[in-house]
Amino acid sequence: MEHELRAIGSGQAEWIKQTVHVDYDNRSQRPLGFSNNGRYNKVIKLLGTFKGDLSPNDLTYLVKTVDGNTYHLYLHLFDSDPLHTPSPIRWTLDFRVLKRREAIVLPLWKSSTHMRLEGVADFHGDLCPELVLGCKACQMALELLPELNTSRDIMVIAENNNSPALDAIQFVLGCTVGNRKLKVIDHNRHVYLFASGIGGYGVKLSLETIRFDDENRFNEFERKVVEGSATLDDAVCYQRLLDDRVARLMDLDNEEVFAVEKVRKCFLCSNFLTESLIHENYGFPMCENCRLDMTGNNSSVVYQ
Ligand SMILES: [Zn+2]
Ligand SMILES: [Zn+2]
Repeated sequence: MEHELRAIGSGQAEWIKQTVHVDYDNRSQRPLGFSNNGRYNKVIKLLGTFKGDLSPNDLTYLVKTVDGNTYHLYLHLFDSDPLHTPSPIRWTLDFRVLKRREAIVLPLWKSSTHMRLEGVADFHGDLCPELVLGCKACQMALELLPELNTSRDIMVIAENNNSPALDAIQFVLGCTVGNRKLKVIDHNRHVYLFASGIGGYGVKLSLETIRFDDENRFNEFERKVVEGSATLDDAVCYQRLLDDRVARLMDLDNEEVFAVEKVRKCFLCSNFLTESLIHENYGFPMCENCRLDMTGNNSSVVYQ
């Protein structure tokens, strides 16, 4: 739906504003088709449902019809005296989204340096800020550890379990939960560890604080969209803010987005720790806990 919201946001709509008859399926709660100018338009896809703004119970539907057009239908429910209105509901065919010969292309997609973002967005379903974060993280990891690009030994530990960034990691690096090259820990933060499993070294990327200066508006629109109380205008504004954030993130250097820490794997417990916390012990890289455990065992042997 993001393409349609962008088109509406940039005014690419043909206003119709006609009362129409709509076949509505109560079970699936969606319009099945509508008649307009003696022609029946069968709905093949419901793109989105929104709140209307004429009265509190109004709903609006963004639908795709069989001829490839996208229309906005407005369902107005009257709350006034039923004697004065022949029917308590009225459907209005609000507008048609204009088709463009070429797809609406964000300027950032024109740059060749922005690796495979289009493909990632296809895989994920839309182009959103956290998907860009995931792409940036992969790009940065491969720059820091170029050998991982060709090795099959790469593994990723992500410290969140529901971000679009995970789709970028799966698409770009081929690390999935299924092939056990992607481990997710539910810490709800954008921290990604990329490592060579056998080599026992890697980098940990932690999201820097990025100020977009739209936080209040963004959170408000996001809340409405998530809880289903967004009007079409809200959805259009939200899409615009998302696009702005995507463009902003694309513009930032990787170093401005993620802080980097080198990590090494403890030979005994297999945990990846900051390089400075790993020390050689009997010739093996070890974390402090494992080193103390070992020393403890050794000393008990010595004093027996
Ligand atoms: Zn997304
Ligand atoms: Zn250890």
